[in-house]
Amino acid sequence: MLDKPIRTASTEVVEVGCLIAGEWVTTGPRFGRVGPWVRETVSTARQADEHDARTALDYAQRGAKAVARLSPAARAAVLERAAVAATEQRDALARLLALELGKPVKDGRGEIDRVADTFAVAAAEARRVGGEVLPVAGWARGVGNTAFTHRAPVGVALAITPFNAPANLLAHKLAAAFAAGNTTIVKPPPQAPAVSAAIVSLLLDAGMPPEAVQVLHGAGPLGATLCAAPEVGVISFTGSVATGAAVARAAGAKRLVMELGGNAATIVCADADIGAAARICAATGYSNSGQSCISVQRVYVQRGCYDEFLAAFTGEVEKLSVGDPLDPGTDVGSMVDDEAAERVVRWAAEAKAAGASVTTGGRRDGATVVPTVVAAPPADARLIRDEVFGAVVSVVPYDSFDEVVAACNDSRYGLQAGLFTNDVRRIVSAWRDLEVGGLVVNGSSNFRLDHVPFGGVKDSGFGRESPRWMIDDYTVVKTLLLRGM
Ligand code: NAD
Repeated sequence: MLDKPIRTASTEVVEVGCLIAGEWVTTGPRFGRVGPWVRETVSTARQADEHDARTALDYAQRGAKAVARLSPAARAAVLERAAVAATEQRDALARLLALELGKPVKDGRGEIDRVADTFAVAAAEARRVGGEVLPVAGWARGVGNTAFTHRAPVGVALAITPFNAPANLLAHKLAAAFAAGNTTIVKPPPQAPAVSAAIVSLLLDAGMPPEAVQVLHGAGPLGATLCAAPEVGVISFTGSVATGAAVARAAGAKRLVMELGGNAATIVCADADIGAAARICAATGYSNSGQSCISVQRVYVQRGCYDEFLAAFTGEVEKLSVGDPLDPGTDVGSMVDDEAAERVVRWAAEAKAAGASVTTGGRRDGATVVPTVVAAPPADARLIRDEVFGAVVSVVPYDSFDEVVAACNDSRYGLQAGLFTNDVRRIVSAWRDLEVGGLVVNGSSNFRLDHVPFGGVKDSGFGRESPRWMIDDYTVVKTLLLRGM
């Protein structure tokens, strides 16, 4: 069914430990990860238990002061060395992403380039953390006083990461927390323990002190224990809405940053370059098999160019090379597992049964979904309403701009949107009226710069990921008031 036959891994199994109190603990119970393409165990990880969690929390609390005392210059230097190392190890890390997740090495290399950028940006931001001299004499009661603020680290940060971009999302959380002077406990996704451990190793090799980071592998219950721990001052969570809600329940009154799901929309207006819009939507709707929170899920096309767009888009999608993620020519590899692929194909079939047409794809082989285009599903189809997180894009015609903005906003989510037009009035009204955290013009929803704030509204979460904005979440404003001075 696919371009290339499924091949076996014939590769080593990467065995990783938990990093607890400065040591990689490898003995004890382990769980394995079967790669969704190679269909063999590609990594195993030491499973953390309650005792490990307690040890790590205690060590983190004791180590927090040492990390806070490290100068911003020293923290920045560690992050800069790690940025260089990430680039040097790009191919090996991309290979691990392909083995653990079925992510094409093309996408994996892109993710590691972004890890390097994230470390470099966090290094620059570490040097800028500062405070203010407040103009208190502007109000009568302030006359004769002086006030300053500075940003103090929170102490212990908990970073919980999802499977789809496990390297860069871990880099964002850990690098910003360290830049701000915190210690971090990392809870990686069980689908990507080896690549997560490798990113942490890069930082340790670059000189990150052992007090600054620990890694506990495991699934949901471990995460819940950590969220509830009083030692944790801030939780940065990226994952699904349902898990985010469980994290918030366990966390109680802790500071939270939530980066959750989406069903991102992209609007194509008739004045746009339709061929370019079709090419960009095809390239960004199926990268990582659509497993990105801002992946192009719903494309709304002005009716006058709907047929032209649908034909061009379907043609571009059919050109994508599907198959072995280890092959540098592959555009679309496998999804995270067979169950996810089955769900996505089922949702496309349901939309078809409800009157939509499938112009290409609509089937899977194992965990690999053949890139699928669904034309005009009804507004209540799961492909429109829920988060697809897979290699299916829906294309829907619209008549007026007000109508399309309302359709985009008719969602529990609001992460990022795309808009193809050259009409500045539409750009400004979309920026104002779309209920999202960000709008990309003349690009699809699936574009992100790591030094630009990124995050959602509504059920897509709150907080903005990107080192400068994350440092605000990882620090507290401390005020100094001097009376009579
Ligand atoms: P998930 O919610 O299943 O898991 C995320 C993490 O939470 C994993 O490490 C998991 O082990 C952990 N976890 C599970 N139960 C927990 C609990 N009770 N307490 C604490 N931690 C727990 O998400 P996933 O399937 O790994 O990732 C896909 C989701 O992530 C999608 O919804 C996607 O949109 C979202 N995502 C959002 C962004 C963003 O920036 N907004 C980026 C990437 C992915």
